[in-house]
Amino acid sequence: MKAVFENLGALTYLASGGPAHVFRARNSRELENFTRDFDNYRVLGNGSNVIVSSAGLSEPALILDGDFKRVSVRGNDVTAGAGALLKDVIKISAAAGLSGLEDLAGIPASVGGAVFKNAGAFGSSIGDLLKRVKFYRAGKEYGISAALIRTSYRKGPVQIPAVISEVCFSLRKKSKDKIIERIKEVTAMRKKKGFIYRKGSGCIFRNPDARPAGKLIEECGCARFRAGAVSVSPLHANVFVLGGANPAGDAYELMKKIRLRVYKEKGIYLEPLVEFWGRFGKQI
Ligand SMILES: Cc1cc2nc3c(=O)[nH]c(=O)nc-3n(C[C@H](O)[C@H](O)[C@H](O)COP(=O)(O)OP(=O)(O)OC[C@H]3O[C@@H](n4cnc5c(N)ncnc54)[C@H](O)[C@@H]3O)c2cc1C
Repeated sequence: MKAVFENLGALTYLASGGPAHVFRARNSRELENFTRDFDNYRVLGNGSNVIVSSAGLSEPALILDGDFKRVSVRGNDVTAGAGALLKDVIKISAAAGLSGLEDLAGIPASVGGAVFKNAGAFGSSIGDLLKRVKFYRAGKEYGISAALIRTSYRKGPVQIPAVISEVCFSLRKKSKDKIIERIKEVTAMRKKKGFIYRKGSGCIFRNPDARPAGKLIEECGCARFRAGAVSVSPLHANVFVLGGANPAGDAYELMKKIRLRVYKEKGIYLEPLVEFWGRFGKQI
């Protein structure tokens, strides 16, 4: 498996990014070799939760391709390679009359990224549907099954350094019409809340305790903050509207600006949910 030196801008959802050595693993042998040869690397899913510095990465980035994009259905179980897109898994599950993933419709994730972050929406989290997760670490494959799977708010069952390779979801039978109806409902609600594709991020900050970060941001008067061409979304204060020539740098500055204001006003230090990869300005 050879690395290609390429710009991550085209591979990340948030249109940020500089150059990196990119490896594409297409089968388990390549993944085994990669995780044996490297211990410091980044796994890139659909790039919807990472903002990459325009300076790029010093460590290699791994993408799961080929076999890792397969999805299959057996009884109530849906097994997906970690490189598959969550939207495709939802579509295939719905066509098979299998329910459980509908609330996650519209999250622009790969299966691996969604499980790593324990992605969720409308009270559902992907972690609650997991029957089995396979991952690679240091050249070896591991598997954990439901009884041993532990997840929490935006924290999946596998910690780095590891590459999630395959996931099995345990779903329930339901009428296809009802599943599709729920997907449409969820999609409409997401649009209303401001989770709009291409122009917007997902949630920038974790909710501290039970308090929504968006509410704190509004209470601290940051709802109209901007940095360069990146601004707080008028629809949702915990979402950034991205744009301009340096969206990564501007998003980082805006994140810092809001965090400082919220800390001064409320004594709460907001923790980013979005990951900033590569080198950015000075940390506060
Ligand atoms: C418009 C928009 C709406 C969003 N809405 C939601 C929402 O409703 N709920 C929600 O929870 N999130 C939401 N997000 C955030 C994002 O989609 C999730 O965090 C998602 O889980 C990230 O998946 P990804 O494949 O894009 O991962 P990436 O952004 O590529 O990576 C995210 C993290 O996962 C790790 N990772 C990726 N693949 C693997 C793997 N195979 N093995 C190990 N680690 C891996 C990466 O290394 C990184 O640490 C939204 C984002 C956007 C842009």
